[in-house]
Amino acid sequence: MLEHKLIEVQAAIQTALQHRTQPFRTGEQVTLIAVTKNHPVAVVEEAYAAGLRVFGENRVQEARQKREQFLKPAVWHLIGQLQTNKVNQAVQLFDVIQSVDRPSLVTALAKAAEKSGKRQAVLLQLNIAGEATKSGAAPEEMEALAKMIAAEASLELKGLMAMAPLAPEPVVRQVFRAGYQAFCRLQDMGLDKTCIDTLSMGMSGDFPIAIEEGSNMIRVGTGLFGARTYKNTGQGGIPE
Ligand SMILES: *Cc1c(COP(=O)(O)O)cnc(C)c1O
Repeated sequence: MLEHKLIEVQAAIQTALQHRTQPFRTGEQVTLIAVTKNHPVAVVEEAYAAGLRVFGENRVQEARQKREQFLKPAVWHLIGQLQTNKVNQAVQLFDVIQSVDRPSLVTALAKAAEKSGKRQAVLLQLNIAGEATKSGAAPEEMEALAKMIAAEASLELKGLMAMAPLAPEPVVRQVFRAGYQAFCRLQDMGLDKTCIDTLSMGMSGDFPIAIEEGSNMIRVGTGLFGARTYKNTGQGGIPE
């Protein structure tokens, strides 16, 4: 079942790459993040067996439970909102934190990373469509926030994360295009000691459009593992 869905997703990635509307500024490799949130650790095991090595979780507590049970080498991304009181745990658990969206979080994360002697890779999350229900910095806040992150020796800015609204395709495409343009602006800032190479855009419902518009990292849950039940984490998972 998973093997079959994985083949479908990989085929869709290749097709989308052939239809890129953007120059290959982000490279021709697309990283597939298997979003295992609200699924039990057995699903992580199954995904690993199918060859997946990069996992996305949206809550610190849930990720910690899984990482305690799943010890094989893998790369973990935090894709959900992060509260400043959980930064220490987040730094312990995640290779990449994709949801950095405000100055107070930058300061707290930098301290936590410094304390644990780690250079923490982060993405700056943008709320491009200005959706009230979603987190993320406003596009006009990007430059200031990026400078702030780049000035922290314990943080490594890798790029941007963004989401499109649930909307008709032209709207979704426009949002992803704006995300790509913001990514280009970020690269062109030429910030010291950063390597801006990651544009994380696209989920199960819209990743082909995101790749066509220049994304090189997609976060796929439902498309690989089916619908989330919000029951099987054993801790009363709530949808964000
Ligand atoms: C849950 C989630 C995903 C995966 O969503 P699917 O529609 O299940 O693929 C991707 N990105 C973020 C930020 C999420 O919270």
